[in-house]
Amino acid sequence: MPKELSPKERMAIPRHKMPEREPLERIKGFIEVNLGYTPELAMAEAQRCLQCKKPLCVEGCPVNIDIPFFIKLIEQGEFIEAARVIKRTNALPAICGRVCPQEQQCEKVCVLAKRGEPVAIGHLERFVADFEREQGEVKVETAGFTTGKKAAVIGAGPAGLTVAGELAKKGHEVAVFEALHAEGGVLTYGIPEFRLPNSVLEAEVDYVRRLGVEFITNFVVGKSATLDDLRAEGYQAFFIGSGAGLPNFMGIEGENLNGIYSANEYLTRVNLMRAYLFPEYDTPVIRGKHVAVIGGGNTAMDAVRTAKRLGAERAMIVYRRSREEMPARVEEVKHAEEEGIEFHFLTAPVRYLGDQHGWVKAMECIRMELGPPDESGRRRPVPIEGSNFTMEVDVVVVAVGVSPNPLIPRTHAGFKLGRRGEIVVDMNTLYTNVEGVFAGGDIILGGSTVILAMGDGRRAAHYMDLYLKGEFKP
Ligand SMILES: Cc1cc2nc3c(=O)[nH]c(=O)nc-3n(C[C@H](O)[C@H](O)[C@H](O)COP(=O)(O)OP(=O)(O)OC[C@H]3O[C@@H](n4cnc5c(N)ncnc54)[C@H](O)[C@@H]3O)c2cc1C
Ligand code: SF4
Repeated sequence: MPKELSPKERMAIPRHKMPEREPLERIKGFIEVNLGYTPELAMAEAQRCLQCKKPLCVEGCPVNIDIPFFIKLIEQGEFIEAARVIKRTNALPAICGRVCPQEQQCEKVCVLAKRGEPVAIGHLERFVADFEREQGEVKVETAGFTTGKKAAVIGAGPAGLTVAGELAKKGHEVAVFEALHAEGGVLTYGIPEFRLPNSVLEAEVDYVRRLGVEFITNFVVGKSATLDDLRAEGYQAFFIGSGAGLPNFMGIEGENLNGIYSANEYLTRVNLMRAYLFPEYDTPVIRGKHVAVIGGGNTAMDAVRTAKRLGAERAMIVYRRSREEMPARVEEVKHAEEEGIEFHFLTAPVRYLGDQHGWVKAMECIRMELGPPDESGRRRPVPIEGSNFTMEVDVVVVAVGVSPNPLIPRTHAGFKLGRRGEIVVDMNTLYTNVEGVFAGGDIILGGSTVILAMGDGRRAAHYMDLYLKGEFKP
């Protein structure tokens, strides 16, 4: 039995880095960049945790994973048990361990962060989830009984997957209706293979399926059938998790030129439709030499790193604020820099210039400076008069945000909507103003994070269960 370490000894251990592929190797294709901890690295990192009596990390996690407990189990080499502890509150740990912005959540408030580097909670979460899957030890605890109640979930993104899994565990009959041919939402069509391999996503979706959830793909609620049609088929409670798939544009001159994509279209072509394997797969994508991606979030980072992998000589981020204000995860920015992505900060396009065939060939930009903070709390970018200049580009990807998907509110009268078209809910119960209908994730938040969508899913499932049992009367 190894000797128990003192807090001082634990604090003296430096954080263990995530092993990753070399930049020159990884930009040749779409293979995953991070390699994951080995068991030895995971156990060594777990030793850093102080097992705080009042663990702030748990409060920082939107689904309140028992972080010290699962880390303790890793330290003891009980990896499968550790995975099960996480799965009590998070059905998709291999995904969250890869894409959650831990530096803004659990790791931000870890006590070790005050004096140095926090425990690598995300890397540890990923390790145990991968270990459980690779060992074939995934245990599925089904309800073992049925309530005879039917629930319909619209959208198979992280919010919908979470609601569906939780309701199935409570014995309800759950069907998920998904517009695309594959489940996962943004996880499948947005986030590229080099960050989240499809095989990992498929395994986590399969876990939800094995809980008893039925998936009906290529089914657009509002077109294939309306909410009322589903109600007539016997569904008694509904969850709308249809996301924020409507891309925003800047509305500047030339934005309709050929070669200018929304990030949604660009990433969907490459990730979901496998355009990087064209002509083996049917969908093409334009492989630009000089690609500019407008924006500074995760979507922009994914698009620009995709462009690099598609062979761009210059793959550039054009962002109107400075590096400090970029909303992208720190790891994505680091990886992008290592891969040779150019960053043009305090710069914004004002118009696009086309050739005689209607293809974009250049972009006129203006330089910005930062003024006082705006309503987002970030310093407002202000154009510097007369600083215009032109950049040569042959592909542009616009990643300046998304808006809630409008189809369901358009095809079902009566939903109360917010300023940006988001469905308004009671933030505690996630109940909408329409009988039997709950909503969560990006459709109410208008573009946020995987874990917040999942947090909504858990809360909604709790109240949907009560609703189905007649114990919640809004
Ligand atoms: C490129 C990109 C990268 C991102 N990177 C990160 C990251 O690293 N970390 C992070 O935490 N977050 C990230 N995000 C944000 C995160 O992915 C979203 O906040 C999250 O996926 C929202 O989940 P959701 O379930 O609400 O919606 P979505 O994931 O958008 O899923 C909604 C689903 O509903 C389906 N649907 C829509 N309308 C209908 C209909 N009428 N009928 C049937 N189905 C319908 C859609 O096809 C889709 O599958 C990223 C987003 C993008 C676009
Ligand atoms: S706050 Fe940090 S050190 Fe404390 S229990 Fe959580 S992970 Fe461990």
